[in-house]
Amino acid sequence: MKITQISAIPIRIPLPTAPYATENAGTRIDWHGRRSRTSSVRPDPALDYALVRIETDEGVTGIGEAQADIGFFGNSLEELCAAIDLYLGPQLLGRDPLDREQLLDLLDYRENSCARSGIDLALHDLMGRALGVPVSTLLGGAHRRRVQVAVEVAGGAPEDMAATCTSLVARGVRVFKPKIGGHVEADVERLSAIREAVGPDVILRADANQGYNAKDAIRLCRLAERAGVGLDLLEQPVAAWDLAGMALVRASVDTPIEADESCYSVHDAIQIVRHGAADVLNVKLAKAGGLYTAKKIAAIAEAAGLRCVIGTSFGLGVEVAAKLHLAASTMHIVDAVEFTELVVHEPLIEQPSSGPLALPLRDGCLDVPTGPGLGVELASEDVDRLRAWG
Ligand SMILES: [Mg+2]
Repeated sequence: MKITQISAIPIRIPLPTAPYATENAGTRIDWHGRRSRTSSVRPDPALDYALVRIETDEGVTGIGEAQADIGFFGNSLEELCAAIDLYLGPQLLGRDPLDREQLLDLLDYRENSCARSGIDLALHDLMGRALGVPVSTLLGGAHRRRVQVAVEVAGGAPEDMAATCTSLVARGVRVFKPKIGGHVEADVERLSAIREAVGPDVILRADANQGYNAKDAIRLCRLAERAGVGLDLLEQPVAAWDLAGMALVRASVDTPIEADESCYSVHDAIQIVRHGAADVLNVKLAKAGGLYTAKKIAAIAEAAGLRCVIGTSFGLGVEVAAKLHLAASTMHIVDAVEFTELVVHEPLIEQPSSGPLALPLRDGCLDVPTGPGLGVELASEDVDRLRAWG
């Protein structure tokens, strides 16, 4: 079997408001008005993606998905599609899609983790379809059939954040990750309000999105510990590059510290271990460059005695399925996987209300797809409707 074509389909999903577009809460207080997904020439909030299609001479096709978010991942939709169509994709033409190790090595360009992830997901989907097995089997076999869902909560007034959580508790969600990282005292108020609203049995993570310096992060943790918030972890309290600051925070408080923006590649993961900078690694497919590297990062975490959490990238359904396969096939991934996309937009896959990604959630969990490959099919009408150009 030979790869005959790799192409990117640009997708843009308009939204009434950009995710986490909150003032003085849930984001850094020194953004100076910058907004990651909008600009003066593109003022309307939207989520951008590239779907990746790999075709072969035997008629087997694989579908992948890559996110574009210039504020977080550092690439625009235009860059993403150009990287896939003009540079990375052509490297694989004429090659056997089952040669995963070699093919992904050919894509080991600097940066471009989102484009690499989109191709990696499509390759895994293709391999699974060609062999007639789910991707979880390719990754080691599924040790669980259902995955608990965690949801992020945008920053805002304490009562609004608490109300968001209680409404999702009614839908079965039992794990939340509020966005903080603005003002320490106000953030402790937000976390306390949520804890009071949801009770002691719900798991609360918090994500500072690099919002504090080390001293403020230590103060936040100590105040939250004293207030009995019971944080499961604090994600990325300081700037991505400040591993010494992360290590200082981690050594100063009882709250486990998670690396997100600090942890993209296997090399990042090793640096975090060397610096003693985190207790938990946040694994996102779009940061790691796909499933294969995500497994390697999970192995580094396991070897270093760290936990792993799979983070959210507002996936379209293809990436959601990939996360389920990753979680199902990796023993040391923490149970609750972040699927904030479920409350942001509808997936672009067939039968989202009755298929493997069935909504509403059952007991706050999603089923791991069992069909060949990633186990989902694109809803072609929705893809055509939301195509950004071409
Ligand atoms: Mg984060």
